[in-house]
Order: sequence, then structure tokens, then C-alpha cells
Amino acid sequence: MKDQITSFKVEGIQARVFAVNSKESVREMQRIHNASYTATAAAGRALSATAMMIMTLKNETDRINAQIKCDGPIKGIVVAANANGEVKVDIYQPMIYIPLKKSGKLDVASAIGKGTLTIVKDLGLKNPYTGNVNIVSGEIAEDFTYYFAASEQTPSVVALGVLIDKNDTVIASGGYMIQLLPDCPEETISYIEKRISEIDSVTAMMEKGMNQLQMVEYIFENRRVEILATKDLNYKCDCSRDRIEKGISMLKKDDLKKMISEDKGAEVTCHFCNSKYEFSEEELQKIYDKIK
Ligand SMILES: [Zn+2]
Repeated sequence: MKDQITSFKVEGIQARVFAVNSKESVREMQRIHNASYTATAAAGRALSATAMMIMTLKNETDRINAQIKCDGPIKGIVVAANANGEVKVDIYQPMIYIPLKKSGKLDVASAIGKGTLTIVKDLGLKNPYTGNVNIVSGEIAEDFTYYFAASEQTPSVVALGVLIDKNDTVIASGGYMIQLLPDCPEETISYIEKRISEIDSVTAMMEKGMNQLQMVEYIFENRRVEILATKDLNYKCDCSRDRIEKGISMLKKDDLKKMISEDKGAEVTCHFCNSKYEFSEEELQKIYDKIK
């Protein structure tokens, strides 16, 4: 089944509700980075959260970047997504090994440790919008929840899960997000809080084979749920030789000079898809001459 992000309207609930199925994208991410199960779970959760955020974008050219910089062994994760549902991920240390918790669960928090979560939204304005918070738990969902509360003043519930079997195969990945609208009455807030405390985890929902609509219907106890919008989600990198060349032309001139005279060329690997781009001494010289 194709990956999809869906936004919902729930009868009598003054909140924006989103859900995502990201299994294929997370599998592709895992394959590209040869990521361990803990790294796959950590980055997969971040991918799902960022994917749901793109449902709030208005223009086709809008983009969202979620950057985690941390002192845990994974060191950092960057998720870049655009309004067309294309997502790509960079994992700084994808091959880390972290033992499972005593409960048998993946220990994502130990992979992340302390650090920051930065969200950059490029909405086509002069300057991108940037919000930055400290990592509060390292479990990713709680960190995005905290980001929405602290940086966007939007009380939210974020639940994310990546289900991985003994052979490191991603069996399911996804999540849901509930964002309260400013006019949400107190009793609805209490209702949502109560439901969140008593319902199954998103991983358990996925284990039962629930799709996004079924998840939302289950959370809100079969209130009438309407699908507002659906978007396909694809792992896709938009790197190109042109872009890499632009990147090289932004290097320090001394560094570029060294690449020409000492290295006699350069091989640049895209962090998001592992594509390799080779530049000969002459090609680097041309770039160097242009920036002179
Ligand atoms: Zn690429």
C-alpha cells in the first residue's frame, strides 16, 4: 500500500486531526542509510511527524525542515519535506547499536540524548520561519509536542510509531497528530486528554492493522469522521549536479583550492540519497574561476 498523509474533521471536535502511513518511505530511508533498528525508529518517527506537518502548508513550493542536533550516539537527524509529499532524511550516525529496553521496546531516547529540535518552514517569504526548542525526552513524539506548544503556541497531541521485526524489517510506520483550534472548549480538551490516556499506543494500533481512518475513528469513539485531504508520501531526493555545484561554490576559497591542487578533484555524496557526484580538477577550477 502506498504511503499517505490524511487530514480529518471529526464531528464535534474543534481540532485539526492528521494521520500518516509512512512504511514504504521509512523502509527506503532504512535501505539508503543502512540504518540500525534504533536509528530507523528514531528517524522514522521524525519523518512521520514532519510528513504530517506538510498538510498545513498552503503553496506547492513550501517546504519544512526538521533538524535534530543531539549528543546521543545518533548525533543528528534532518528531515526535509515539501508540500508535494516528497520527503528525504539524513541520519548522522545511522549504524548505531543500542540494546532494547528491558520491556523489549526500542530505546530511541538513548540514541538521541540531549539537544535541540529546530523546525524551519520555507513559505516562500523573504525569510523562512524558524522555531527552536530543547529536546525534552528524545522519544521524538514528545519533542514535537513540546515544539508545537512552546514555539507555535498550538497545544497538540503527537503519537508516532515504527514497528520493526526481529530481522530489522519495518512492518509498519506511522502516527497521528491532534492540534487544538483556538476555540476548542475546555470539555473537548478534557475529553481528548482522557481518550489519549486510555487508548492503545499507535504501535499497538498498527499491530492490529488499523489504517489511518480506523485509527481516528477509534480515538474518537466512532464519531463521524470526514476526510478533508489526502496526500501521497514518497521518499524522494531532489539533489542534482547543479545543486551540488552550487554547494561547492559556497565553500571557502582556500578549501576549494586544496581540492583542486591536492585532491585533484572531488567526489561528493548526497547525504539524503547517497548519490555520488564526481568533479574533475578542471571542473573544480571552472567553479573556482566563476566565484573569483
Ligand atoms: Zn540526493
